[in-house]
Amino acid sequence: KVRVRFAPSPTGPLHIGGVRTALFNYLFAKKHNGTFYVRIEDTDQTRFVPGAEAYIFEALEWLGIAPDETVGKNEQFGPYKQSERKHLYKDFAEELIAKGKAYYAFDKPEALAEARKACEAEGKTFIYNWENRGTLENSFTLSKEEVAEKIANGEAYVVRFNMYTPDAEEANITTTDLIRGEVSFKKELLDDKVLFKSDGMPTYHLANIVDDHLMETSHVIRGEEWLPSLPLHIALYEAFGWKKPEFAHLPLILKPVGNGKLSKRDGDKMGFPVFPLEWKTEETTSMGYREQGYFPQAVVNFLALLGWNDGTDKELFSLKELTETFDLDRVNKSGAKFDPEKNKWFNHQYLQQKSDAEIAELFAPIVHNHVETPIETITTVVGLVKERANFVNELWDLSDYFFVNPTEYDAKASKKQWKEQTPTIMQELIAVLEGIEDFTSSNTETIVKEWLTEKGYGFGQVMPPFRLSLVGAMKGPHVFDIAAVLGKETSIERIQKAID
Ligand code: GLU
Repeated sequence: KVRVRFAPSPTGPLHIGGVRTALFNYLFAKKHNGTFYVRIEDTDQTRFVPGAEAYIFEALEWLGIAPDETVGKNEQFGPYKQSERKHLYKDFAEELIAKGKAYYAFDKPEALAEARKACEAEGKTFIYNWENRGTLENSFTLSKEEVAEKIANGEAYVVRFNMYTPDAEEANITTTDLIRGEVSFKKELLDDKVLFKSDGMPTYHLANIVDDHLMETSHVIRGEEWLPSLPLHIALYEAFGWKKPEFAHLPLILKPVGNGKLSKRDGDKMGFPVFPLEWKTEETTSMGYREQGYFPQAVVNFLALLGWNDGTDKELFSLKELTETFDLDRVNKSGAKFDPEKNKWFNHQYLQQKSDAEIAELFAPIVHNHVETPIETITTVVGLVKERANFVNELWDLSDYFFVNPTEYDAKASKKQWKEQTPTIMQELIAVLEGIEDFTSSNTETIVKEWLTEKGYGFGQVMPPFRLSLVGAMKGPHVFDIAAVLGKETSIERIQKAID
């Protein structure tokens, strides 16, 4: 039975990389009729950020990938928040101590600093491991009685994992990652990580393994930055004698230019969001995809393609299609480039897929900020200009002239298009328009063109100033379509105003 989890630490807003992890877990669960749960990993109280947890849930909700189980929802394996599971971890740390797989360490920060300095003097980096634990203050160098006494006296301690003892065991940890294939780590290079602190809190590693076990996680799907922790996690499962979940480490998300990992700074610098929702703190506000006007489907779609494809050139996938086609065997090992321009293209596609009426509903509040307009008119305008828009919030700039009279005329265009005889011709055009009963685009076009031929006027003498009068600039869709939306009266008024 597939049970996968997204296990964020609520230390700030969800980053695009985190959302991608959540999405891939969600898709994998749905594809295999499994369960997707969210566990909040908040054991590091020093990094707690108010609002971050609520933000995470709101972001997943917005994207349509809410978990099946989490804090306050189907809590059969609960609690789903590690700070509420505190009482659980100590026994597990002690179990490892009893098995000789973990030990107490009492080293004061100064002693560790000293050891670090000594190592540096020899040009090495200090790691707490099999090579030097015999010289530090821990269960290897203290008697059982001394350890018990220190604990009884309330001395600060940590519990460290006994990662490696030469000759006593295999020198390597080898396992298969579902994306990267076989991965192998040399134990002698790994350190004795802290599992438990004297403040009664486990570290990420212990809590993560205990919970993945207790919550019956079948697959751990997470970002590549956790690959270095994999040998420790494998060793922990082995030390407990538990069945390991399968592991899959997702490729890095790379910045749009250059080769580094994508960071919030890239977004800030280049003006694109790296968060799903806007994130506000007292000092700063960071743009989110939702606030920029992205549809959640577009965000889901571009996230899905960050490291995955279905083996064809297909790029547009609905969430439902993704839950049917997604699988881990088509996730790449190599980093996925983040392309903000391409992201806009995705939104453009989803905008075009919507009906004019649907878009008009979304656009109406923006229009109504400027002027009351019937929804039918807004729908017609949407149909004429949406092709040029990536976002609903771009529609106003593309179509404002349909709703409000131009207040100025593009200077360069006026100079070029508005000639000496133009006022006379435009006055004649007004007379022609006045005589038209059926002011639809095609009828008006036919009649105006007939008049044009009759009079021997060139297209260039009439159409550009006509457009300039209606729009204020040389832009927009077919000029007769514009006139039809404006109606006879407004069209004539605008030409008259341009003449005056
Ligand atoms: N709490 C870790 C994080 O913030 C979870 C890593 C994992 O999935 O094991 O990403």
